[in-house]
Amino acid sequence: MKPVAFAYERPTVLTDALRLLAEDGDAKVIAGGQSLIPMMNFRLSRPAKLVDINQVKELSYIRKTDAGVALGALVRHQELHEDPLVRELLPVLADAAGEVGHWAIRTRGTLGGSLTHADPASELPAAMVALRAELELQSVDGTRTVPAEEFYLGLLTTDIQPGELLTAVHIPVSSAKSYGFAEFARRPGDFALAGAFVALAENGAAEVTWFGVSGGPERRELDLPADDTARRQRLAEVAQELDPLSEPEYRRQLAVEVAEAAYQNARGRRA
Ligand SMILES: Cc1cc2nc3c(=O)[nH]c(=O)nc-3n(C[C@H](O)[C@H](O)[C@H](O)COP(=O)(O)OP(=O)(O)OC[C@H]3O[C@@H](n4cnc5c(N)ncnc54)[C@H](O)[C@@H]3O)c2cc1C
Repeated sequence: MKPVAFAYERPTVLTDALRLLAEDGDAKVIAGGQSLIPMMNFRLSRPAKLVDINQVKELSYIRKTDAGVALGALVRHQELHEDPLVRELLPVLADAAGEVGHWAIRTRGTLGGSLTHADPASELPAAMVALRAELELQSVDGTRTVPAEEFYLGLLTTDIQPGELLTAVHIPVSSAKSYGFAEFARRPGDFALAGAFVALAENGAAEVTWFGVSGGPERRELDLPADDTARRQRLAEVAQELDPLSEPEYRRQLAVEVAEAAYQNARGRRA
């Protein structure tokens, strides 16, 4: 199928993009188009107007800040995977970005698109929750900042409001934590059936953030015993609290496996 007819605008500066979104309640942002175009082709989405932000160059940057790293909404997944600054300061994010779909999708798909689309099996929303990122949202009325965990409200649902554009992400960098990542997909490039990020603090505290299991990223703070059997048992207990979208027992088993693999990955980084 093909999409219904739509108007098309291609602003080159952020203020014009925000004005176009404010003027027309039926307008939708298009970035990489890797999720929106299939939805339009299936007529699951029927925007009256597309505001293409690909020429808004001020949204395309990766910068070191006092607290960590700032990423513009137009950063492509493959850039995130390859960028030297991200590799140095946030290696777990670079690794996770490399698992998003196939190369062709990663060279078009954007950070802002992935975070806003909020597919429950997406790596990057969970990465932002695990890394305690703050998302910057702008409209003609101003700018607000939302912690990633509060941005995700449920299946494909976020706190973004009409007329708002996700413009940037601010990620703190701390040497006091090490992070690991793992996911399981049937074939390379497929959406993950389950994935996890693990953060290990120097004082032994751990956090697991799952994706692909339930309707959105799920972070849990927990004690993770050093003993292998006890740790798997603890992860299995916590996995029971998750509410899988399908195949509950299978997804919970996968949740334990990916969390254990991410834990080992995090320990490896600390060494
Ligand atoms: C075959 C295939 C496999 C894939 N595999 C994976 C995978 O394994 N993991 C994964 O995470 N993703 C996967 N994807 C999706 C891919 O990552 C998309 O790039 C991403 O979900 C959307 O980013 P985009 O820039 O293409 O957004 P678009 O498709 O342009 O937009 C998606 C939505 O976000 C909105 N939007 C876009 N940018 C902004 C912004 N800055 N502010 C506000 N709203 C905005 C749009 O209005 C739309 O509602 C896959 C896609 C395909 C086609």
